[in-house]
Amino acid sequence: MSEPTTESSGTLAALRLIYEISRELATAFDLRTVLTRVLFLSLRNVQGSSGAIIVLDDSGQPLDSAIIHAGNVQDTNTQRLRATLDSGLAGWVARNRQSALVTDTATDERWIRRDYEGKQDSGPGSSVSAPLMVRDRLVGVITLTHPQKGFFNGEHQALIQAIADQAAIAVLNARLVEESQRKAAASSALAQSAASINATLDLEEVLQRILEQISEVFTAEAVSLLLIDPGTQDLVFRAATGSKRDKILGQRIRIGQGVVGWVAQEGEGVVLQDVTKDNRFYHEMDQSTGYKTRALAAAPIRAKGRIIGVLEALNPAAPFESDALQVLEGIGNLAGTAIDHAQLFNQVEAARTRYLELFEDSIDPILITDEDGKILEANRQAEVFTGFGTPSLHKMNIYQFHKVDWQALGQDFAALHADRPVMYESHLHPSQGDEIAIEVHVRRVSIDGAPRLQWQMRDISERRKLDKLREDLMSMIYHDLRSPLSNVISSLELIAAMLPPGEANLANLIEIALRSTERVQRLASSLLDTARLEAGQRIGNQQPISLRALMSEAAEAVELSARSKEMPFETAYPEPDITVRVDADMIRRVMINLLENAVKYSPEGTHLTIGAMAVDGMAQVWVADTGKGIPAEDQERIFEKYARARIGTGAAKGLGLGLAFCRLAVEGHGGQIWLKSELDKGSMFTFSLPLAKE
Ligand code: ADP
Repeated sequence: MSEPTTESSGTLAALRLIYEISRELATAFDLRTVLTRVLFLSLRNVQGSSGAIIVLDDSGQPLDSAIIHAGNVQDTNTQRLRATLDSGLAGWVARNRQSALVTDTATDERWIRRDYEGKQDSGPGSSVSAPLMVRDRLVGVITLTHPQKGFFNGEHQALIQAIADQAAIAVLNARLVEESQRKAAASSALAQSAASINATLDLEEVLQRILEQISEVFTAEAVSLLLIDPGTQDLVFRAATGSKRDKILGQRIRIGQGVVGWVAQEGEGVVLQDVTKDNRFYHEMDQSTGYKTRALAAAPIRAKGRIIGVLEALNPAAPFESDALQVLEGIGNLAGTAIDHAQLFNQVEAARTRYLELFEDSIDPILITDEDGKILEANRQAEVFTGFGTPSLHKMNIYQFHKVDWQALGQDFAALHADRPVMYESHLHPSQGDEIAIEVHVRRVSIDGAPRLQWQMRDISERRKLDKLREDLMSMIYHDLRSPLSNVISSLELIAAMLPPGEANLANLIEIALRSTERVQRLASSLLDTARLEAGQRIGNQQPISLRALMSEAAEAVELSARSKEMPFETAYPEPDITVRVDADMIRRVMINLLENAVKYSPEGTHLTIGAMAVDGMAQVWVADTGKGIPAEDQERIFEKYARARIGTGAAKGLGLGLAFCRLAVEGHGGQIWLKSELDKGSMFTFSLPLAKE
């Protein structure tokens, strides 16, 4: 068909053409084949020297194209066609959705001239163009050109429109097939990545697998994975492939710096086919490693909606495909979840290992049972303690070797609330030997998700022995010391009273014996009080008494020893007197204790004071010396039992029980005791006591 002429032959020719086109296109599904076939058929039937077809996506953006020039299929550059679409003939056709006839390209403003046109040949002289429409949907534009002006006419225009109408559906189908194939490829790449990445919980392996997947999908020369350091908030290269791997690992990039920093900041992926054209690219990194980045794709790694790092693929074997970003972002999301899981798993593992270590190395026997008491696990110490080996223990029930205190635990362990252990005392029956007194701590634990009971046992036989010893000692002090001492004292007092006048020497000796015996008696009473107060016994015998009387009696008890060390002794009695409500004997002993300490631990010639006054509804009594003082680090400790200051006590020896008694006695009265002391300046002990109500 050289020239469409008569009406009937034209219609016939058109019908034949439509038939031929539909047959030709029926077997082609691949977009490229469809495009070239449509072009060849058009050029053959409508005539023309060159033809181009642009495929558009649903938003009107060029998706693909084909050009035939002088009978040859040309390498097309879809981007170049954008200009034609913006301001050229194809654009006009696309916008108006109707065919166009340009009889003279020089005078028609819809035609744009190109530089390359007009050198050897003067470019096309005329052109026809038609939209490819499927119903209302624009699929593409086809344009034919001829070097001659006025070559095309209205018939050519009608023909090209007829071809376009036939071709449109084939192009649309091919485009959809291609799109779905690309999507399928992307999702199968993702599915494969997911399967591989999620196959392990080891963090390093997860990172490695992520890199492998990216390298494979993009055939990238190098791949890096950066994670945000929670401390500094920098991006740190945690894993990498490629020749500069060792140089890059551990390097840091600030968020916002370079392309990866931008990705982390914006939470958006980036594909750069040519990094030199983007000013976000951070050249310093390449300079420091000696790597040459040409193209890169980067996407954020997200876990639980937060950005935790960035993935990047560098220098792919072929330019990144249009769906590269989608795929990389998909891997980024997978990676985030996998990394998050691996990190959690690591933490759980670490906690589990720590628990196992604590369990195994505990100095107390620990047994784990189910809720029926069946033993599931036992630590080393449990074997030693019970005398049963692990295999036997695993066949036993916890009730078999100790009596469970159901009163403490409640029926079916009802008293065991989450995380609050229940404690009771019992006896353990080991495989051999006598039963052992134990303290049992039972708590609910969850092991691998299953509810378990943890039984921690403590050997308290030593403590029991000590308790017994203390009880024995107390009854010894009470019966065997205190009552005989009272007898000695009353006898001495009787002898002193019976002495005929003039027996000064004898009177003196009796006086010394009396004072010494009184000291022993005070010590015995304080020991007994300490034991009782520690056991939580309340002070029963509190009576109103003059503070002044107590202070002067206490002062009198130490007057002699102060004089023998030539220590000036001052008394600052409260004026007026204060009535306190106390166990007089106990508080007198507290005062004597503090005064005796001041004498005992201070050098000769230093000063000693006892004073009192009422402060804030309490009486305050102080005992001060100008002796060596007590080091700051000992000031709290010396109130503990058996504690003595590390320096400054010189040759003087004591048990370290006096101040412990003082504190218990004062606190038992609802008061407090404290100390102010400076080395080489002296110490001042102060305590408060309740006032007697009027
Ligand atoms: P003890 O006198 O039997 O050692 P205390 O409990 O009475 O026991 O005192 C504990 C320690 O506190 C003493 O060993 C001594 O080191 C220190 N200490 C107590 N009072 C004074 C003081 N006035 N000056 C210096 N050191 C003191």
